[in-house]
Amino acid sequence: FTKQNVEEVLAVASRMKELVAKRGGCDVLNHRIMANVFLEPSTRTASSFNAAFCRLGGKVITIQEGTSSTKKGETLQDTMRCVECYSDVLVLRHPETGAAKLAAKYVKKPLINAGDGAGEHPSQALLDMFTIFNELGHLDDIVVTMVGDLKYGRTVHSLAHLLSFYNVRLNYVAPASLQMPESVVQDMESRGIKQHKSEQLTDAILAETDVLYVTRIQQERFASQEEYLKYKGVYVIDKATVMKGKESMRVMHPLPRVGEIMEDVDELPQAAFFREMENGMYTRMAIIALVTGTAN
Ligand code: ASP
Repeated sequence: FTKQNVEEVLAVASRMKELVAKRGGCDVLNHRIMANVFLEPSTRTASSFNAAFCRLGGKVITIQEGTSSTKKGETLQDTMRCVECYSDVLVLRHPETGAAKLAAKYVKKPLINAGDGAGEHPSQALLDMFTIFNELGHLDDIVVTMVGDLKYGRTVHSLAHLLSFYNVRLNYVAPASLQMPESVVQDMESRGIKQHKSEQLTDAILAETDVLYVTRIQQERFASQEEYLKYKGVYVIDKATVMKGKESMRVMHPLPRVGEIMEDVDELPQAAFFREMENGMYTRMAIIALVTGTAN
């Protein structure tokens, strides 16, 4: 992915937003089918990919973990080769890191990674970039503070990569054992990105933050419930926290939130997470249009 790719997606996503507002959608993908393969739970990613494809005029088939042949022990590559026969675009969510990369070796049609374990979540990162641009008006000269489970939270890994095309500073606020993986830190360093790690969301960090990107402690990635409970509730953002930041600061979260952001934040202009969620559909429309060559 290049900076130019990011900007192309954002430009097409803006057009998709206008298209939906004016006409609800179009029919460039009439008679096309997308396979939405979700082998791990999802609300927003699955339904926004689904809605995005439908709004471009296509139809969607859905494969879910509990009701598919993966339950019978079928390999991922066989499942993907199968759905490839019936569809034009493939979307895959999988609990294992590297699953999308593996599947891509076996299929020839466009395959979109909708989240692979604790690895990456590229379409989320693109919709986050779209949101930051829409909320702040620019992507350069910003301080982004990522808070929560930065080790297992895949969205922050992908977001850091895309932000590194711009002049940004990154704060990583996490318990020491859930800090940003060294591989990401090294990569950011090699791109000249200034990074700062902290266990506390201090007033000083809040005061310089333009985007407060809050994440959930990823319960499903812990070895035991006991281990998870050690970290649950470690950072809670409420209205009083937000008020300590700049008025222009935006609070984002890939959702679902499970107690990290109190509901008293929801009515503040700083709360961008519901707009972020809506942007998911426009951005995924853009991604689909670009991979199918129908963006123009
Ligand atoms: N929905 C996001 C993801 O699939 C964030 C999360 O689950 O915490 O990674």
